[in-house]
Amino acid sequence: MRILVIEDERRIAKDIIKGLEGAGYVTKHCLDGEDGWFRGDSETFDAVVLDLGLPLIDGLTVLRRWRAAGRSMPVVVLTARDGWIDKVDGIDAGADDYLAKPFRMEELLARIRAITRRAVGQASPLLVNGALQVDTRLHTVSVGNTAIPVTPLEYRLVAYMLHHRGRIISQSELSEHIYDQDIERDSNALEVLISRLRRKLGSDIIQTRRGHGYVIVAEDAQR
Ligand code: CA
Repeated sequence: MRILVIEDERRIAKDIIKGLEGAGYVTKHCLDGEDGWFRGDSETFDAVVLDLGLPLIDGLTVLRRWRAAGRSMPVVVLTARDGWIDKVDGIDAGADDYLAKPFRMEELLARIRAITRRAVGQASPLLVNGALQVDTRLHTVSVGNTAIPVTPLEYRLVAYMLHHRGRIISQSELSEHIYDQDIERDSNALEVLISRLRRKLGSDIIQTRRGHGYVIVAEDAQR
């Protein structure tokens, strides 16, 4: 999952990015509202962490512009402590959640898990499809009742595909959402990763749609 962080205070931004990356997310950081607005308008993210007090364009304006343009990714707004007016304005502008500074990283991570689940219509931190289960709190993957050891990259791929099960995901979308750097994005590496996962999970869970991408076909939970 790919998260856009728009925060002008470098120290806070550094903590947020460290926390998000530690939790397996890919991040993109912007230091001002103009750059942040542009990224959010032109690229796809699974969620945004948006500070309100930003240089060039303030956070509320950034959010209103995205929503007016139909950009619907989930957004957590960061407000000043006791800034209840900010919270009300943030929610009115289209924020999905807010968090007052200072906050604990665990709380931000919990809110991001919740808004990304809601965005794809899943209420539980446990993603289940057929025999496949992913626990988004513990970052564990299991098939049937067998725990499957996975690397952070493998986890990101399975979790992203399971969030979007039933939809064909192109190689470029998948790369964009699981790799940290542009330089790592080559389709060969992705194919190797997929075939490694097929060996671990079973060959039929991640299916190839030649010329289109990959899909986890939606199934009822198998218990
Ligand atoms: Ca600020």
